[in-house]
Amino acid sequence: MQIVSYPHPTLRHKSLPIKRVNAELREIVSEMFALMYEARGVGLAANQVDLPIRLFIMNLEAKPDAGEEFVFINPVISRAKGSAEKEEGCLSLPELYGPVKRPKQVRVQAYGLDGQEFQADVDGLFARVVQHELDHLDGVLFVDRMSETNRLEIVDELDVFETEFASQREAGGIPSDEEIARQTAEWEKKYCL
Ligand code: ZN
Repeated sequence: MQIVSYPHPTLRHKSLPIKRVNAELREIVSEMFALMYEARGVGLAANQVDLPIRLFIMNLEAKPDAGEEFVFINPVISRAKGSAEKEEGCLSLPELYGPVKRPKQVRVQAYGLDGQEFQADVDGLFARVVQHELDHLDGVLFVDRMSETNRLEIVDELDVFETEFASQREAGGIPSDEEIARQTAEWEKKYCL
């Protein structure tokens, strides 16, 4: 398992809800936490590790020995209130940052690994991370939510990611779109259908 970078096609995939949790999925989640901590991130969505399923993880302290670990399966956001603009970054767009306007407060409902539904009204960084990660499950990246003006400033940096991706693919480091679609269908069959 590894974190994929923009413009990997799985980052643009709208993931299907998860219908079953098994030992393999629990193992996947624990590998995702390890990867997220290694990259010093506060959140990581399944799409970012090339898995087309509706799940993301979070720990606002970005460290295994601090904060609280959250697993969100099939998350749904409602009751969005207010608006706040803050810098965001993404483990799939390393070293790139930009301002994103989002609702300040949201209600999130999801299932945990134990199959129990939970709900929380969150704001601040918690609300921002939840919205950023849920976007990933719909194939949306934070750069898509930046204003036109701010986006113009990062066009060159996005170009660098695209060039790097193309050369990695040419070197055989990244499967073809067809192969990725085949793997996606397999994961969906296993967890979502
Ligand atoms: Zn991200």
